[in-house]
Amino acid sequence: SQASLDILQLVSENYVFRNIEIFCTCSIGIALAPQDGKDLDTLIKKADIAMYHSKDSGRNSFRFFNPAINRNMLDHISLISGMRKALQEKQFSLHYQPKIDLRTNQICGFEALLRWQHPEQGFISPAIFIPLAESSGLIIQLGEWVIQEVCRQAKHWYDIGLLQFTIAINISSIQFKRGNIDNLVLGALAASGLPPQYLELELTESLLIEDSDRLVTTLSHLRSEGVHLSIDDFGTGYSNLGYLKKFEVEALKIDQSFVRKMDDQSNDAAIVRAIIQMANSLGLKTIAEGVEDAPTLALLRSLGCTQAQGFYWARPMPADEVPIYCDMWEKNNAEAL
Ligand code: C2E
Ligand code: MG
Ligand code: MG
Repeated sequence: SQASLDILQLVSENYVFRNIEIFCTCSIGIALAPQDGKDLDTLIKKADIAMYHSKDSGRNSFRFFNPAINRNMLDHISLISGMRKALQEKQFSLHYQPKIDLRTNQICGFEALLRWQHPEQGFISPAIFIPLAESSGLIIQLGEWVIQEVCRQAKHWYDIGLLQFTIAINISSIQFKRGNIDNLVLGALAASGLPPQYLELELTESLLIEDSDRLVTTLSHLRSEGVHLSIDDFGTGYSNLGYLKKFEVEALKIDQSFVRKMDDQSNDAAIVRAIIQMANSLGLKTIAEGVEDAPTLALLRSLGCTQAQGFYWARPMPADEVPIYCDMWEKNNAEAL
């Protein structure tokens, strides 16, 4: 392990390459013969597992192979390789969940949410596979597919006259940092023919906090073309709000962990109230996530929340149900008048 420490130390020294300082870290996995295996293949496989474990525990570290973590890591590794295959074999699909404008009672958007129908394991939740896609770098390809698929689908809805609202895509901060997301999104829009004002990107708070020049340039490029921006899971990240104006974000999505516990004795209702007041004073829209019942909705209305989304109205649905849902909504609204 002294050798490992030496390697980590050496690799993490800064290099200067063409006047640019380069930072680099590594993660080391170690397997030992004979206890972990007697042939090269087995040893490399177990060293690989240990390496993934080391990456998971924050990188720039080393780990010995440990049979106890084996099961979990093997699951992860097989899911990651399963994901590569899934992309080729079209096992991913997108479901869409409506967002409701609480003042006009109109549908004001749909959010695209990834679904993975695994051939053996059945449905796998994005809460499980998105973090794995992020740690393996697969989020780049997966995210690209999502952007293209949403543009293609939304263009179809635009053509049949359905689109009176935006379609939102979740963008991982890793995807944002690695790829040139503005050109990717604008390229997909151009290829599909969908006008940019029908597209919305949901970004995470942690991304915006970085405040780099490149981020400002990227986001204002997208905004200047008409793409909408909102912040997902708002309230779970950082409390520095200075960045909100700077990035031309238009809406805050209040995280469901606050929304769902609003009626008990906790501070959550106070947090939601504070977020809504702050958003109002900054001229931002607020979207409450995870609304499941009428009392929560009534409370949100009284707090001045402008939009909401949740099982109370609809679960995320396959694309072909979206036009039917919109029709039904129109009819119900017409009857209520
Ligand atoms: P999110 O963007 O915050 O999406 C909202 C999640 O809450 C969705 O879970 C949705 O199905 C769920 N939800 C909506 N209304 C309710 C409700 O009333 N009650 C409850 N209990 N849940 C509700 P889902 O689809 O499992 O997605 C989980 C997360 O995975 C998303 O959170 C998002 O962060 C990520 N994700 C999903 N699709 C994508 C994608 O295409 N790209 C990226 N980067 N991330 C994605
Ligand atoms: Mg979202
Ligand atoms: Mg959210």
